[in-house]
Amino acid sequence: MADLNIPAAPAIPGATPLHSGKVRDLYVLDSGPYAGELLMVASDRLSIFDHVLDTTIPDKGEILTRMSLWWFGQLGVPHHVLSTDVPEAVRGRAVVCRRLDMYPVECVVRGYLTGSGLLDYRATGEVCGIALPDGLEDGSRLPEPIFTPATKAALGDHDENVSFDAVVAEVGPDVADELRRLTLDVYARAESVARERGIILADTKLEFGSGSEGEMVLGDEVLTPDSSRFWPADDWQPGRTQPSYDKQIVRNWALSPESGWDKASGATPPPLPPEVVDRTRARYVEIYELLTGERF
Ligand code: ATP
Ligand code: MG
Repeated sequence: MADLNIPAAPAIPGATPLHSGKVRDLYVLDSGPYAGELLMVASDRLSIFDHVLDTTIPDKGEILTRMSLWWFGQLGVPHHVLSTDVPEAVRGRAVVCRRLDMYPVECVVRGYLTGSGLLDYRATGEVCGIALPDGLEDGSRLPEPIFTPATKAALGDHDENVSFDAVVAEVGPDVADELRRLTLDVYARAESVARERGIILADTKLEFGSGSEGEMVLGDEVLTPDSSRFWPADDWQPGRTQPSYDKQIVRNWALSPESGWDKASGATPPPLPPEVVDRTRARYVEIYELLTGERF
């Protein structure tokens, strides 16, 4: 288990801390019209290789929150957001959302092959039990988008790709079918929106939960650079690592001699130079503006 380095959730009047992940803090609202529902706060924290960095990226939480809200409005799928009227201290980077009973499945969909999917393919010719054609490379477009679920790992562990049958064993055949159907639907919709804007949505991860009536609801954040791979379509060239609108700048810096960091040491990477912070922030702003067509 990696050293996680997650700071304690800041106190927010009227809300009780429930859970802090690498990037977000969840609270339960104590009172008001949404008492008992959740306040989901996106921090400016950034994690690479399962380490939460000591340096934050200014505005990242707000950029990702606004991007996720924009997407929720595009998708036409029931989602968990109730309100953006949140306590002043977290204005712009928090949402009030329905408290769902989350399915223990990371609903990943891939239209292109890279990352852990590529590693699995190279080892077995399959991803999550789905056989793929020979000859695919890093960044290849798949014949069709595939549902490649993963189990949610305990904090600090890597998620593990699993077969569809494993999802059926976990949640039953009806829920598993519906998770797959909705995930592929969301991908198809989002992929076409992104493509119109010159961006490839290579893959993304969704999380669903059930509401009080047992209905399936899309939760968490959606289609942000923390949960998705966005590639500039003009630069797409299978057979190499694709340039990506995310924390690639930070990963590359951390792995470069300049950082002095040894990935194998298990230590948290050193503080980021201001120039790396600025370029990373600019990258997040850029993808926000490209996708939404709005100025940040
Ligand atoms: P990490 O992402 O660092 O591996 P994490 O997934 O536990 O850890 P975050 O992603 O920061 O932490 O926090 C979001 C958490 O909130 C996730 O556990 C997610 O499943 C949960 N969640 C998202 N939406 C809802 C919801 N509507 N109701 C209940 N839980 C939710
Ligand atoms: Mg998460």
